[in-house]
Amino acid sequence: MRDTANDAPAGEKAAPRQMQELGETLQRLRLGGPFYILLWLLSGTASGLWERARWPFLLVTLGFIGLNVLRFRVRGLAEGASALAVRRRLDWIWTLLLANSALWAVAVAWLLMVTPNESARTVASISSYAFATAFAHNFPMRLRSAFVALGLLYLSTLAALIANGSRFELVAVSVLYLLYVSLALRRSHAEYRQRLDLEDELREQRDLLERQSRRDGLTGLANRRRFSGALADWVAKARSGGSPLALLILDLDHFKSVNDRHGHAAGDTCLREFAEQLQQAFPAQGELVARLGGEEFGVLLRDCTSGEAARRADAFRQAFAGHASAVGEGALQITVSIGVAAFDPARDADGSALYRAADGALYRAKAAGRNTVLVAEDEFAVA
Ligand code: GH3
Ligand code: MG
Ligand code: MG
Repeated sequence: MRDTANDAPAGEKAAPRQMQELGETLQRLRLGGPFYILLWLLSGTASGLWERARWPFLLVTLGFIGLNVLRFRVRGLAEGASALAVRRRLDWIWTLLLANSALWAVAVAWLLMVTPNESARTVASISSYAFATAFAHNFPMRLRSAFVALGLLYLSTLAALIANGSRFELVAVSVLYLLYVSLALRRSHAEYRQRLDLEDELREQRDLLERQSRRDGLTGLANRRRFSGALADWVAKARSGGSPLALLILDLDHFKSVNDRHGHAAGDTCLREFAEQLQQAFPAQGELVARLGGEEFGVLLRDCTSGEAARRADAFRQAFAGHASAVGEGALQITVSIGVAAFDPARDADGSALYRAADGALYRAKAAGRNTVLVAEDEFAVA
C-alpha cells in the first residue's frame, strides 16, 4: 500500500489531499508531545527510578522536552506549495514521531530493567499501551511508518516485561492487546484513505458543478452568468486602469425561420457551428466569447479600441456570411448583425451601461437591414 502524500508527482503543486494530510498530521503531532513528558515523569517517580538514577532520568526527560519543542516548531505550508515540499515536511514530522517512539522504547525498557517492581510494570505498561493505541488512531496516514512506531512503543515494553520475569497473564494480555492495536491501525488506515478518496470526489464534483454553472450547455462557451461577471470585472478594471475595452453583441439574422424551415435540431447545429467560428475568431487571453441566450452572443475584448473592435467584428461578419452550414442534404447561409461599443468612462458607470450601448448599436444594425456591424454613438450614453 502506498503512502498518501507520495502519490502525487514531486515537482507539481501539492494536491488538495496532500495539503489535507499535512494539516491533519500536524494538528495531531502537537497534541501528543506533552503526554510523553508527563507519563515519563510519572513512571520515573512511581518506579523509584528518580532516586536510583537521577541524572540519566533527567537526561531522558530533557530528550522528551526537546522532541516536544521540535514538534511545536513544525509549521504548515501555504496554499500552492509543491508536492515535494509537502512530502519533505511530512517526512520530517514522521522522523520526529519515530524518534519520539524510539526514545520511549529505550527509556521504558531501561526503566523496567532497572526497577523491576510492580508500580514500574503497571505505570510503564499502561503508558506504552495507551501511546500505542493513541498512535494507531491518530496517525493512520502512513501505514508502514505507523507500524514501526507501534512496534517501538509496544514491543520494547513487552520484551522488558518478559525479560524481567513478569507474570504470564500480564504478558499474555499484552500480546492479545497488541493484536487488537495492530488491527485497529490497519482499519484506521483504510478508513483514512477512504475518507480522502471521498473528499477528493466531492471536490471534483464541486469543481465540475462550478465549471458547468459557468458554461453554456449547447455550445460549450461561457454562459451569461460568467459573461456578466467578467463584464462587471473588466469594466471596473478599465475604469481604474484606463485601458481600452470593447464589447460586441451578435445576433443571428432571421434565425426563427431556420428553425421553422429546417427544424430545431438543424438550428442547434448552426448555433454550435457559429459558436465554434466565433471562438476561433476571438481566441486570445483577453477575449471572452459567451452565449448570452438563444441566438445572441457576446464578445468582450480587453485592450481593444472601438475602431479595432469594429474592424474585427466586420471581418468576422463577412467570413460568416460566406460560410454555409450543412443542414440535412443542403447548405444554409446565415448572416449575423453585430453591435459594437467601446468602454467610455464618461458614459459607462458600470458594465450594464456598456452593454446597453452595444445592444443599442445591434438594434440599429438590425433596423439597417441586418448582416451589418454598427458602432455605438455617444447618443446611446444618455438613453
Ligand atoms: P432577427 O433577425 O430579428 O434577430 O430575427 P430572429 O428570427 O433571429 O429573432 P427572434 O428573436 O424572433 O428569434 C430567435 C429565434 O431563435 C427563436 C428561437 O426559435 C430560436 N432559438 C433560440 N434559442 C434556440 C436554441 O437553443 N436552439 C434553436 N434551434 N433555436 C433557438
Ligand atoms: Mg436573431
Ligand atoms: Mg435574438
